[in-house]
Amino acid sequence: MNTRDSFAPLGDIPIENFRRQLHQVADWIADYRASIGDRAVSPKTEAGAIVRALPSHPPEQPEPFANIWNDFEGIVLPGMVHWGHPQFMGYFGSTTTGPGILAEMIAAALNVNAMTWRTSPATELETVVLRWLREWLGLPEIFEGVVYDTASISTLHALAAAREQAATIVRESGLTGRDLPVFRLYTSDQAHSSVEKAAITLGLGEQNVRRVPTDAAFRMEMSALKRFVEQDLDRGFKPLAVVATVGTTSSASVDPIAAIARLCGKHGMWLHIDAAYGGGLALLPEAAAIREGWADADSFVINPHKMLFVPFDFSALYVREIARLRRVFALVPDYLGGDSARADVDYMDYGVQLGRRFRAIKAWLVWRSFGREGMAARIREHLRLARLFAQWLEKDGRFEILAPVTMGVVCFRPVGYSEEACGALVDQLNANGETYLTRTKLHGRVAIRLGLGNVLTTQRHVQKVWQLIRVSIEQPRFPS
Ligand code: PLP
Repeated sequence: MNTRDSFAPLGDIPIENFRRQLHQVADWIADYRASIGDRAVSPKTEAGAIVRALPSHPPEQPEPFANIWNDFEGIVLPGMVHWGHPQFMGYFGSTTTGPGILAEMIAAALNVNAMTWRTSPATELETVVLRWLREWLGLPEIFEGVVYDTASISTLHALAAAREQAATIVRESGLTGRDLPVFRLYTSDQAHSSVEKAAITLGLGEQNVRRVPTDAAFRMEMSALKRFVEQDLDRGFKPLAVVATVGTTSSASVDPIAAIARLCGKHGMWLHIDAAYGGGLALLPEAAAIREGWADADSFVINPHKMLFVPFDFSALYVREIARLRRVFALVPDYLGGDSARADVDYMDYGVQLGRRFRAIKAWLVWRSFGREGMAARIREHLRLARLFAQWLEKDGRFEILAPVTMGVVCFRPVGYSEEACGALVDQLNANGETYLTRTKLHGRVAIRLGLGNVLTTQRHVQKVWQLIRVSIEQPRFPS
């Protein structure tokens, strides 16, 4: 058969074919969500299996959707880790939701570029959801926001604004060869590696990120932070910024934000709060204390794709004086001259990226579908399950809990296990695809880490992982 007979040679695929495929995919997504718990969480396949199974050369001729779909189901899908699986308890759990999936489909259909109001008033929806989130976070209205893909990028932009506050000349003339002091950044030994990545990218230098020790609950030690800043001042360095964390990646610990804010005020340092995960707790009225000191920050990042049910990716950065961010990044080339400055805000002016996805529609659909109360109820359930799991560990007596359980994260290890044996236990638990846990290190000791955040995870799923853990540690193992 001549392929030209079965495919339209130009233009998109015929609308009737598209409609059929859309229904097929829609049914598949609904079935996938309904039965995801029956699948193995992680693949049984070897690394490289997908690459080996697919052609190494690109397609020359059009292929029917049915063939592509067969390969998706037969080759790609079996190689997936199912982050939306209720038994997926790695990292911070996973927050994809029905409304979020619908929004992703709509965004792909619209395919707008949210760089300026002129290119798409999708930017207005961005302003709306950023204001809603700001209200939930209790941040003062002076803070204005912008949506990026990830917290790493948000922190990079926040620190670019901090650098511009301390050395306005850098935008024009760069860092090298200027009569500038060496800038220092401070963050805890539990903070995310995105701080170093930002320092590398901004030319501040990885070695100028000073990792401040943490206390027994993994919170930044104020006395150590003060000492570091004073030492640096004595040596002629310029303390630039502190990155404080609300919900650290390993154990969800929370730095003493209010005290850090006071120190920043005293030394004229920028305070960036990384609340990528923990910021979501602000939606719970009973957790209001967590917001202490937030209003004194210069910038604040939260990832609604971590705790607030928006599918990956969606990160919101708020800056007290957003004009600083604009001063770093606004640059209007001739070919955008007619498009910019038609509205209060053209988001392309607030970052490296020009083209921007229509991410706001995800937050808008999810947050309207659940409401604050609905999200708060789901977050409370995750907190309850984390505490319940910790109680089981405590009652059992054969486990150590390595960090206070303040959010949906539990770090633990069996008593008497070596570092290697703890790591091996995680591999063993994950091996047959029945669950998915991750590991980290806390003050040098390996911790097994359970992260809850998936709307599909119920007590039954937490009971299952608890059962798997108990069976695993009852099995004879090599002496450690
Ligand atoms: N900050 C914290 C506290 C995190 O836990 C993470 C990731 O888990 C990040 C930043 C980086 O997030 P992203 O993957 O959005 O860059």
